[in-house]
Formats: sequence, C-alpha cells, structure tokens
Amino acid sequence: MCASCNVKVRNCLGVTSVILRRFLSLGVTMAKSKFEYVRDFEADDTCLAHCWVVVRLDGRNFHRFAEKHNFAKPNDSRALHLMTKCAQTVMEELDDIVIAYGQSDEYSFVFKRKSNWFKRRASKFMTHVASQFASSYVFYWRYYFEDQPLLYPPGFDGRVVLYPTNQTLKDYLSWRQADCHINNLYNTVFWALIQKSGLTPIQAQGRLQGTLAADKNEILFSEFNVNYNHEPLMYRKGTVLIWQKVDEVTTKEVKLPAEMEGRKMAVTRTRTKPVPFHCDIIGDAFWKKHPEILDEDS
Ligand SMILES: [Mg+2]
Repeated sequence: MCASCNVKVRNCLGVTSVILRRFLSLGVTMAKSKFEYVRDFEADDTCLAHCWVVVRLDGRNFHRFAEKHNFAKPNDSRALHLMTKCAQTVMEELDDIVIAYGQSDEYSFVFKRKSNWFKRRASKFMTHVASQFASSYVFYWRYYFEDQPLLYPPGFDGRVVLYPTNQTLKDYLSWRQADCHINNLYNTVFWALIQKSGLTPIQAQGRLQGTLAADKNEILFSEFNVNYNHEPLMYRKGTVLIWQKVDEVTTKEVKLPAEMEGRKMAVTRTRTKPVPFHCDIIGDAFWKKHPEILDEDS
C-alpha cells in the first residue's frame, strides 16, 4: 500500500503518472528542490558538431611501470598486445569508434563525426574510454604476462581533441605514427648500444646526440648488423584498429539429421570486429583502401 494515498502501490504509480501527465499538459512546472540550482555550476562540454572527436590515452608514469614489471627493451610485445586487447575492448563496448591507433603506452580513439553518444559530452567520451581501457588492462593482464604478477594498479590520463576536417584528422594520426617511428628508431639504437656494446645509458645518450635518422640506421647496420627496415612492423608502425568482417568458426551440437545426432559441427558466422593492422597510415594508400572510415555517414 502507498503510505500517502492508501492504494496499492502499482495503482498509486499509475495515478501519479496520470497526474504528472496532466500537469505537464497544462504547462505546470513541478516544484524543484532549493538545491537544484547547483546544476548550473556544471560546465557545458559538448563537442562541436560534425568534428571528429579524438580521445587519446597515455599511461601514467609508464617508465616506472615498465621497469617494475620487467618489460623487455626496447619493445615488449606482450605489453603492446595487451594495449591492443584493451583498445579492442573499448571499441566493442563503447559506441561510434571508427578507428583507433596505438603505440608505446598510448592509444587514440576516433569517434565518428556525427556521433551523438552521450550528447557529445567530452567528459563522457574521455572518462568512458579511460575507465574501460584501464579496467581491461588489469582484467586481461594475466593472459599476456603469465609469469609476471601485476604489482600495482596502472593508470591512464585522457584528453579530447576535435579535428574539423578529414585532412586534420589524417594529419593527427600521421603525427602519432611519425612519433612512433622517431621514438622506435632512437630506442632500437639506444638499447643496442647498451645491450650489445655495453655502454651505460648516459654513454648511449651521448653517442646519439645530434644524430639524424640516417646516422642511426648506419650505426644499427654497421655495428650490429641490423637492418632497421626488417624490424617487426608492430614496433615500427604501431597498431591501427579498424572494423572488419571476420568469419567466426564455432563448434555446435547438431540436433538433426538423425544420423548425425550428438555430433559436433563447425558453424561459421560473420561478425564485425576491430582488427589490428601494422601498416602505414601516413600515405594515401591506406585511406583509399578503406574509404568507409572517413565516410560522412559511417
Ligand atoms: Mg606515458
């Protein structure tokens, strides 16, 4: 029973909604609590319409995190694959992400231009991406670092940047991939000097000071017999995630026909999933091959 009007609760709610509807149709506003005004302190952070919304995450103090968890230098493939697993989870769990790009301890997520997810509020985009990514990092850690316990909870900062044109978005992604190349070339030589030539970090840093890309390639080739272009693509190019149709094969118990009863059969169904590529995204070829990514109404 409802305490105030003494009818069964289910009926009472029905009556309430009828009264509410009448009030609204008469243009009568419901009384607000005197505290309601604090809502006005909330800032409007709606992302400008028709812009690409990019959320970039970056590991908090991952230099220390990598040390404590014995990451391989210059690249730890377990850590990079875990980052990508987290990014795939973000794309699958959240709405409207058309492409993601990651390298080192960072990942960028691009929401489609016309996304109206959470009314385009920047704080919603950013916090959903960051929290989903961070919880996935902890959740999936053990699948990638079987012998290495997670010693403390990692964190990620996030930022939202709007890009008004396809060109500015492509330039943004090119900037991140160029950054991947510059850092990876440096780190590959830096760690070779330490691990193979026995230099201290300070000495390796000194040796590389003022060198250009060609000089670093030459050191790798002449001193360590390493052709930088043969280093793994994932390290040199980072990881791009785009939606692709994937055939999923599952085994299912089959009911009919009778002679096959109880037998397991492979069933194929097509699903759209975020699939990783380690390719160049600076040139036009990638965008020509995947025009749907930048499609206005994608
Ligand atoms: Mg970082």
